[in-house]
Formats: sequence, structure tokens, C-alpha cells
Amino acid sequence: MKQSILNPNNLQTFAKEHKLQPFRVKQIIQEIYDNQNIRFEDMTTLSKDLRQQLDENFEILSIIPETILESEDNIKIWFKTHDNFTIEAVILFHRSKHEKESIKSKVHKVESQNKWPDDLTTLWPDRPLNRITLCVSSQIGCPVNCVFCVTGKLGIKRDLTRNEIISQLLFANNFIKTKFGKKDDQTLRAVRNVVFMGMGEPLINYQNVKKSIEIMIAQAGGFSLGKRHITISTAGIIPGIEQLIKDDIPVKLAISLHAPNQKLREELMPIAKVYTLDKLMKTIDDYVKVSDNRIFYEYIMIKNKTDKPELATQLADLLHGRLAHVNLIPYNMNPAIKLEESDERTIRAFKDILEKKGITVTIRDSLGRDLKSACGQLWYEKIANRHCEE
Ligand code: SF4
Repeated sequence: MKQSILNPNNLQTFAKEHKLQPFRVKQIIQEIYDNQNIRFEDMTTLSKDLRQQLDENFEILSIIPETILESEDNIKIWFKTHDNFTIEAVILFHRSKHEKESIKSKVHKVESQNKWPDDLTTLWPDRPLNRITLCVSSQIGCPVNCVFCVTGKLGIKRDLTRNEIISQLLFANNFIKTKFGKKDDQTLRAVRNVVFMGMGEPLINYQNVKKSIEIMIAQAGGFSLGKRHITISTAGIIPGIEQLIKDDIPVKLAISLHAPNQKLREELMPIAKVYTLDKLMKTIDDYVKVSDNRIFYEYIMIKNKTDKPELATQLADLLHGRLAHVNLIPYNMNPAIKLEESDERTIRAFKDILEKKGITVTIRDSLGRDLKSACGQLWYEKIANRHCEE
């Protein structure tokens, strides 16, 4: 197997062996991170010979893009890992209702990394795009096993490496460049926000997530993202939050709360037995003190389970006086789990109770929903079946 060019040591060794000047190494790195290239043949600032040598020795992406599913405000990408698992990332676009109307869903098969589907640029009209967000996976499967989540039912296969996480972002940027070209000011469009809300619990894969964030925020040899443009979604892994404080990584936190009391939380999320609600809230308070970041609380709306008015009152009391934003997520029903989605009226009534008590609330819109990409509701039949059968 070829070496990964994303490991600085590999590139340095190659540079030594091939007597490359430091500026050449810098150029290679710029071609990857700044010029958003994922094929050596596209790196036109390098000589043909060097491109060929690099191609013979290195791979850029540590995962292989397999299928792309486009919808009105999402592009979902499934990748194969070298050990034959499937992971996914979702590019989320924030578009107006009017813009969405002319866009229809479409699936593209990526035949090879060197050949894009011919109709790739025809699906979406060329309109200005802003706030491009990438939802990345951090593990294959998830060990947390929340009762409402199909990803949890897959169990955990393994952590993703730093390079596998970074590769999702490299691919997304290249895809955006290929599809939408340059902005009016001739700069490249790129992902501006990263959310760790795909497969896996990022704070259980702390070291690789941390290393990937270091590259995301690096100005040279990285993606130059602001720390506040990165969100970690966690089921409430207290040691991970404490480590973020110690390591001074003030990214945004989204807490998968889903219940306002210990009893219901334990019922829905077994991890709550280990990391209790009391201790979790205290750790979050510590995090807010050092980061001054508003915390996003994800709350799933399951019929007759989490959507009762008294729970809204409890949730408001729990968050009273805290820097909080609640995101109500309508549950996505699926045949593997016997739970039902709350109806719209109930969700609105729940929201009203919170708002009357001074809590900021949004109801998650369709963004991510039609592609089943809402956090914790990740579901792709093909993947689920294959992993479950193993
Ligand atoms: S909801 Fe999130 S943390 Fe819970 S099992 Fe699913 S992916 Fe894991």
C-alpha cells in the first residue's frame, strides 16, 4: 500500500531521498490544503516528473469515495476505508426555500477517483453559496448505544485515524471546487464549518479528533478554520470535555442531552449511568467558564417519551441561567426501532414552554433529515445491514 502524504514524516523522508528543496515541500502541502487538490496530476505548480514520483509513492486520501447522494441542501458521501468499512460525511448547504425548489435528489456512483461523473456539475444551478458545513464521522459505528439510534445498534468497529477524518474534509473541499468553481473574487469555495456529528462519539476517539482539529485550524499545512467554526457533538463523555479544557481547545460543544432528568436519560442513553447528568452539567459549566461558548443541547422529540410538557418544564429548569441553546430534533422513524416521531403540534407546544421560560430554542429543519444525517439518526440501510450481519 502507498504511504499517506498526510503524515509529515513520510513527506520529509521522501524530500530527503529525492533532494527536494524545502520550498518544494511547502508547495506540495499548499497544493493539498490551499488549492484543494486530491490528485497529484492536478498539482500544476509541480513538475510533471515530481507529480509522477509522488503518485508512485503516496496516496492523498486515506479513504476512498464510493457513492455521492445529492439532495436539495445536502451532499452525502460514502467512503470505503482500507479495511473495507463504510463511513460517511455530509456537506450541508444553507439555501433559501426558493433555491431548494429547483433541485432534485440524485445519486452518483464514483467510478474512480480520477473520473468524476459527467453530469456532476449539472444538478445544481450556479448560485452563490455560503456557510458550507461538513458533518464528519469520527468512528466506524458507535459504542454509546442510545436506544433511538441505528448507528448505536451497529456497535463500534474502530476509531477513525486522524488521516481518515482529515480526508473527509479534503475530499469535500475538492468536491466543492470541482462542482462550483471559484467565487467572484476568484478565491476557492471551501468548507467553513466542521461538525463532528457523523458516525461515532468523537470524545471517545479523543486523540485522533484532537489531532484532526489541529490540522483544521492550522494556517500553514491546514484548513485555517476558526476554532469556533468547529463543533463537537458528544453524548456527554465527561473526561473528554475535561481534556478539551486542559488542552485549551475551545471548540463549540453540542451536547446530546435528550432527557432533562437522570432516570429518562439512563433509559435512552446507557452512557448516562457512567456520566451522570449532575456531573455532566457541572463539567459543562466549567467548559463554559473557560471557553465562554454557548452550549447547544440536542433534544430528540420522541412521541410519548421525551415530548411531554412536564419534561419541557424540567428542561427549562435545568438550563435556567446557563448559556444554552436547545435544538429540538424530530425523531426520524425507522423500522429497526420501535419509537415514533412526535407530531408537529406537540413539538411546537414543547418549544413554547421552553421559550416562555426564557430558553432559546430551534426546531431542527429538514437540513440533514431527508438524508437521515441528523445526529444520532444516521441510517443507511446498506451499511446497517452489512455491519449487523457481521
Ligand atoms: S446517538 Fe450518537 S452517541 Fe448515541 S449511539 Fe447514536 S451516534 Fe452514538
